Amino acid sequence: MVKCTFCRYTITPGTGKIFAMNDGKILHFCSNKCEKNNFKLGRKARFLKWTGAFMKGTVKVAEKKVEASVEEVAEKVAAEKRIAERQEADAERKAASEQAAEKRAAYEKSAAEKKQ
Ligand SMILES: [Zn+2]
Repeated sequence: MVKCTFCRYTITPGTGKIFAMNDGKILHFCSNKCEKNNFKLGRKARFLKWTGAFMKGTVKVAEKKVEASVEEVAEKVAAEKRIAERQEADAERKAASEQAAEKRAAYEKSAAEKKQ
């Protein structure tokens, strides 16, 4: 299947136009719209939203997003570290509170013994 030189969409067999340039390059156009945009209007396909070339350009944006996701992964790792630190601090606090509870129990026992 031949693809349109301008919009990169596949051309239905039996339709479109083939343009042979003087330097031997062959251009395939799916529609008069694509031909006019290329020659008469002198437009670049990658700046037009309705072309496949523009969609190809948006793929680069997606790749940039992937680069940003690396930072997101770093943020996630940092967040996991913070969570682990918090859990350690919570464990220390729990141990301290348990020790305090034991001390209080011992003190209450001794106080009860003194009363008797
Ligand atoms: Zn086209």
